Amino acid sequence: MSLIVCKFGGSSLADGTNITRVTDIIRSDPSRKYVVVSAPGKRYSEDIKVTDLLYACYRECNETGQCGEAFSKIRTRFTSIVRELGMDGFSIEEILNETEKEIEERKSSDFTASRGEYLNARIVAAKLNWKFVDAKDIIFFNKAGLFDEEKSYKAIRAALQNCENAVIPGFYGTDINGNIKTFSRGGSDISGSIVARGVNADLYENWTDVSGFLACDPRIVNHPEKIENISFKELRELSYMGANVLHADSIFPVRKGDIPIKIKNTFRPEDAGTLILPSKKYVKGNNIVTGIAGKKDFTVLFLEKSMMNSEIGFARKVLSVLEQDGICFEHMPSGIDTLSLVIESKYLAEGVLDKLIRQISDAVKPDYIRILENIALVATVGHGMTSSVGTSARLFSALSEAGINIRMIDQGSSEINIIVGIDNDDYEKCVRAIYREFFQKTQN
Ligand code: ASP
Repeated sequence: MSLIVCKFGGSSLADGTNITRVTDIIRSDPSRKYVVVSAPGKRYSEDIKVTDLLYACYRECNETGQCGEAFSKIRTRFTSIVRELGMDGFSIEEILNETEKEIEERKSSDFTASRGEYLNARIVAAKLNWKFVDAKDIIFFNKAGLFDEEKSYKAIRAALQNCENAVIPGFYGTDINGNIKTFSRGGSDISGSIVARGVNADLYENWTDVSGFLACDPRIVNHPEKIENISFKELRELSYMGANVLHADSIFPVRKGDIPIKIKNTFRPEDAGTLILPSKKYVKGNNIVTGIAGKKDFTVLFLEKSMMNSEIGFARKVLSVLEQDGICFEHMPSGIDTLSLVIESKYLAEGVLDKLIRQISDAVKPDYIRILENIALVATVGHGMTSSVGTSARLFSALSEAGINIRMIDQGSSEINIIVGIDNDDYEKCVRAIYREFFQKTQN
């Protein structure tokens, strides 16, 4: 029998009815042995996620020393979940009292925020009659505050090897001082991936409220195609550019262990979902392009200097200026006498851009510096692009037919993506034109 680790996200666990749906899914396949859960999410669009209510508890506690008012909302939320689940004999009251006391005593933002996952995992474990394994005992952070692989995998193996089934809270672990520390928001996806790697699972199922990845943003193209199979590499390119179903960091643990991820929809479990595969298991489909994603609001610094190619250290000096100013760049397309830097505009607030231009001018004395603002980047991603002759020609003619002026082109060295820089105002038009070309046109 295969071994599956599954993670259920916030809206899948927002109330008792949804939790019942989740426990039915878990029970329907005995390979689903270990389950990672997030805190209850929103029940309706104006609702507040439990994690956000907990951050409010922390703020109240900081200001007044107590968190009674904000915590009463948490109390109501969890007692109604337990009531809806009809869990006679399971007393959440005591656990809630203890939690409120601990929040007030510890005065830690991370500890407080982590309690949504903790309480939810206690409830799901009791409902399934499975063991509750606390993330604090199996997920660890190192001195630098980063995930400690060695220590965590050892602890996960020790805790789970003789344990048939377990429910584990997502989002947090323990730092080197023994305190609770959380990942960044949405981090239960990372916890699920870590547990999957720790037990060497055959599959990491990530259950959310969508049926997987779409070939592009459905707010731009109506009903885009679903992506059935995607490689880790393609996913990385697309999620970096804004396609976010999974926490971007969650792919690393399973990717290292060659464990596929399946994205599934709790509300439509019959849908196939998206299977994310390591390169060696990935089989290219018929599509040349797997997906299109993009982001607005970049600034491009375009530098020109005659004989730049023979000036040793030119790029290093430019990059040192960025390093000193703590600014990261996204892309650096270059030519013989030109070099461009693509930077997210949010890093270039009032005055920062002028200072940067001055510093770069002093450092490398370019003949010319031009600034392009309000630039959007659109990435067209697919393993099929490497082996199909004429893909870029098709892409660029589609954009020219749509009347879009391309301001910059960058083809990653992996050859699985082509990124174009265009005006922010052309962003939606650009995504539609690329989608039409690669997904809606029949080629002779
Ligand atoms: N509950 C946390 C958050 O809201 C973590 C998660 O949902 O994965 O960010």
